[in-house]
Amino acid sequence: MDDKVSCSFCGQLTYRGLRIHGEVICFACEQRLARLNVADADYPQWLDGLRTLWHKWLKGT
Ligand SMILES: [Zn+2]
Repeated sequence: MDDKVSCSFCGQLTYRGLRIHGEVICFACEQRLARLNVADADYPQWLDGLRTLWHKWLKGT
């Protein structure tokens, strides 16, 4: 299976994203999230993205 899927965070098409409960996180975003710091200027945006995913996951189970 080598279907292209779009990343849930940046929307970029990726072949090998990290798949969590049907959502895809591309490698770049995965790396970014791993180094995410509260002091980062774009921290709120990432938090928002994560929150959206969490809500989806909670509803899905
Ligand atoms: Zn991404």
